[in-house]
Amino acid sequence: MANTTWSNIEIKKYPKLNKNIKTNCLVVGGGICGVLCAYRLKELGIDVLLVERGKIANERTIRTTATITALQDFLYQDLDIYKRKLYFEASIEAINEYKKLNKKHNFLFEEVSSYKYFNSHNLFVNEIKALNEIGYYPNSFIYNGKYIIEFMNQAQMNPMLLIKELINNIEIYEDTEITYYDSNKAYTNNNIIEFSNIIVTTGYPFMKIKGLFSFKLYQNKSYVIEIENKNNTKYHAIGSNNNDLYYRTYNNSLLIGYGNYKTGKNNLGFKPIINIINDRYKNHKIIHKWINQDTMSLDNIPYIGKINDNVYIACGFNMYGMTNSMISSILIKDLILNKDNKNINLFNPKRKLPINKIIKQISFSILYLLNPKIKRCKHLGCSLNFIKSEKTYECPCHGSKYDLDEKVIFGPTSHNM
Ligand SMILES: Cc1cc2nc3c(=O)[nH]c(=O)nc-3n(C[C@H](O)[C@H](O)[C@H](O)COP(=O)(O)OP(=O)(O)OC[C@H]3O[C@@H](n4cnc5c(N)ncnc54)[C@H](O)[C@@H]3O)c2cc1C
Repeated sequence: MANTTWSNIEIKKYPKLNKNIKTNCLVVGGGICGVLCAYRLKELGIDVLLVERGKIANERTIRTTATITALQDFLYQDLDIYKRKLYFEASIEAINEYKKLNKKHNFLFEEVSSYKYFNSHNLFVNEIKALNEIGYYPNSFIYNGKYIIEFMNQAQMNPMLLIKELINNIEIYEDTEITYYDSNKAYTNNNIIEFSNIIVTTGYPFMKIKGLFSFKLYQNKSYVIEIENKNNTKYHAIGSNNNDLYYRTYNNSLLIGYGNYKTGKNNLGFKPIINIINDRYKNHKIIHKWINQDTMSLDNIPYIGKINDNVYIACGFNMYGMTNSMISSILIKDLILNKDNKNINLFNPKRKLPINKIIKQISFSILYLLNPKIKRCKHLGCSLNFIKSEKTYECPCHGSKYDLDEKVIFGPTSHNM
């Protein structure tokens, strides 16, 4: 079990699937996205079954900082006005859905402001302009020499408490990995699950070819440290540069994050963030420290929707999986019910992507496939890089990660080296 701020929440254990079974909606993957999708469908009285290859929420979700916000990593000025408006509105709708859940469940949800800080005056002014163009007028000010934009009424939560609350009435099997599916059957090593719809929420999709996600996704990682925080303010904040720190308060703690690095590339690990914290927070005590990684899309917008008649996918959350998982649960529910949703095209996993980025992703994969190094990834066979700062082996193509004993820590692969 990963050791993070949320690890003390005890989640019920579920059995491994040991029979053939039939369901209407099969949700594959028990992170925040799978749980929200299953919960929403179950609320409508639809027959749902969720399978998880390990333990519930023990991959990306337990390692999140769990902010829920429309103020994400990308800049709204980089999206055209049509996409900008839709994505912004979808994010606000997601926050409001969390607010509704908060009326029924206790998951230490708190409404707070999200802040984005800029060093560049130009970027700051252009971001405000881009938001004004879609009818949103955030607060803005200068603080400590930084240009700041404030989105009020955003939120943060304890993600494992939410999951613990939502899984109560869902049929779940743990230690149950789907290895393959066809038109209406999914296969584990020993059993078959017959489904009418399958929803793949596995972070990185487990299918190697279908949907061509190996060419459309890569993974980035980031470092988080939790220290004591005597200050009573509640907020979260992020910088506009990849190497700016990000912050979130939680009870008597401050979670500080750093970096947005491609998995598989060497970097300095925790060193830079520890140096900064030592400098800024005298006599601090580190409570937890951990690394997380997430799947990144090629155009800043997640892939959510249908890839086939009865196959739905949600991935490429670009480190904003709390908001984007809620968006996924709403959109996928509408698609399954055949209801119109204005966001179908925006998130369409089969949409056109920047061709230069696809070519870069393919060339990169070929380079690492042809590289003669001996240690290779069990996913698609790319050669692995040894990451000195973490003492891990990582796949630079698709982001699988192994420890020194060659045991897998992060997918897409689930096989030890
Ligand atoms: C450092 C860091 C901080 C972050 N902070 C935030 C934040 O503040 N706010 C925010 O919104 N987002 C944040 N994120 C992103 C967020 O953590 C992720 O986007 C989110 O947790 C993804 O959830 P998920 O359900 O898609 O994936 P996961 O939580 O990884 O769940 C997928 C599950 O599928 C299972 N699985 C995989 N393959 C199979 C298979 N074949 N069969 C069965 N099960 C399978 C896995 O075991 C896993 O449990 C952060 C990311 C990083 C890197």
